[in-house]
Amino acid sequence: GGEAFDIVIVGSGGAGLSAAISAYDKGVKSILVLEKMPMTGGNTNYSSSGMNASETMFQKEQGIEDSNSLFAEETLTGGHDTGDSELVKFMCDNSGPAIAWLNDLGIKLDSITLTGGMSVKRCHRPTDGSAVGKTLVPGLLKAVEERKIEVRINCDAKELIKDGDAVTGVKVEEKGKAYDIAAKAVILASGGLGANIDMVTKYRPDLKGYVTTNQSGATGDGYAMAEAAGAELVQMDQIQIHPTVQQEHSQLIAEGIRGAGAILVNSEGKRFFNEMSTRDKVSAAELEQPGGFAWEVFDQQVYDKNKAVGNYDKAGLVVKGASVAELAEAIKVDAATLKATIDTYNAVTTDGKADEFGRDKGLIAFAEGSMYAIKVAPGIHHEMGGIRINVKNEALTASGTPIKGLYAAGEVTGGIHGNNRIGGNAICDIEVFGKNVGEVVATALTK
Ligand code: ADP
Repeated sequence: GGEAFDIVIVGSGGAGLSAAISAYDKGVKSILVLEKMPMTGGNTNYSSSGMNASETMFQKEQGIEDSNSLFAEETLTGGHDTGDSELVKFMCDNSGPAIAWLNDLGIKLDSITLTGGMSVKRCHRPTDGSAVGKTLVPGLLKAVEERKIEVRINCDAKELIKDGDAVTGVKVEEKGKAYDIAAKAVILASGGLGANIDMVTKYRPDLKGYVTTNQSGATGDGYAMAEAAGAELVQMDQIQIHPTVQQEHSQLIAEGIRGAGAILVNSEGKRFFNEMSTRDKVSAAELEQPGGFAWEVFDQQVYDKNKAVGNYDKAGLVVKGASVAELAEAIKVDAATLKATIDTYNAVTTDGKADEFGRDKGLIAFAEGSMYAIKVAPGIHHEMGGIRINVKNEALTASGTPIKGLYAAGEVTGGIHGNNRIGGNAICDIEVFGKNVGEVVATALTK
């Protein structure tokens, strides 16, 4: 018969590539990674924040006090106590070792910052503070290439093959040609569903018409395949929307820009909410504004501090003015109101009084001079629900029984983030569980 591998991994994002590397290093050499798109890396390519992790080698070096239990507590609280505490504990306890593992692979995430929803600096970024995806994906790909693991692009997994209750392979389609691949274990690492609006609205009819930040391969195939093979899908209605998405380009505007001092104003030039609050709340507040959008406004300091802004500018997403008045004219808001908004914000940052919206992070006064704005509104960002798994990454049925031969890791799984994901926790999720699933499967196969 046709092709056969020990392990077939569906998806070449952070979770899939990490699984391939760790399985290989645990002794399984017969591994195939399938990728439906012409390019590898999935949404992980576009991850802009960093990897949250606790008790890490870099936190210790930098004297940052943190604990796995605090990380777990803040993750569960951030998800309004709807996450699976066992999965969360496992993720947090294994986050430090995952940072060290990546470092051994040559992926050094030692610039540590804060995102919304954490009390300690825990978000690990590349040394130069740039977006994590652009370092993580090439680093993982290099490790995959060094191990000569095959990544087959333009190869779309269509269906799981079963023998009785066990999964024994995948049916694929490569450039119009359909064929079967046998596997002792299949790992689904196929990411989310944001680019499949039919599936999004099946679970969340209210998200009709929303743009998405997801790459076009995020079509939710993994959910459908797992469900057809008997797995339970949990919390599928928990689709995270991100508050700062430039709509025409579906471009996510990085959270770090607000962290560096940017504010959100409505079409009247007024602030309306704590910009550093969680994604669900900021998104909801924006939708209540006239027109359902906001202008993210910032000065030259913020522009210079965030590499990403230069890229948004090149793409034509940034509106400029030489002064507050000129910016106000360019974005058609009342100049006096915008000036009053900025003056009030500046006063708070300097007099130490509580901000009227409860913002207590990233309060940095605007300097005189050039002003910038990006028009933003909420967009579909991340499926927090997904395939039910245990800490061995086994795909589970509704009664909690593992499906033989079927594993899942990364965004395609559910239960970790509950109903609100903290920025930086997706990379922690895909790295901890991606590394874990490779080890678990390799251990089972080499026994
Ligand atoms: P994660 O962050 O969980 O690793 P990503 O979105 O980064 O998820 O990566 C998932 C990858 O899986 C994407 O590159 C996507 O194109 C790919 N993918 C999705 N569905 C399929 C499929 N049916 N067959 C092969 N690859 C798939």
